[in-house]
Amino acid sequence: MLKCKHITEKADALVDGSALSRRERFALRLHLMMCRHCRRYVRQLRALLGFLPRQEEPLEDARTEAILKKLDASQGH
Ligand SMILES: [Zn+2]
Repeated sequence: MLKCKHITEKADALVDGSALSRRERFALRLHLMMCRHCRRYVRQLRALLGFLPRQEEPLEDARTEAILKKLDASQGH
């Protein structure tokens, strides 16, 4: 699991959306789902950079599972 320190380090890239692999981004999002501190940090950063908040609805567990499985499958190639 990622730690808050990682989130703040990667927050720029997360907001920018370019420099992260899908897996990295997913791990970050997963942390953001559970950590309101980082969520607020990213939201503020995003606002600071003039980005409108994108989909902020939390993923449901089942959906998260499905995405993780999909990721694993795509890594297998
Ligand atoms: Zn955190």
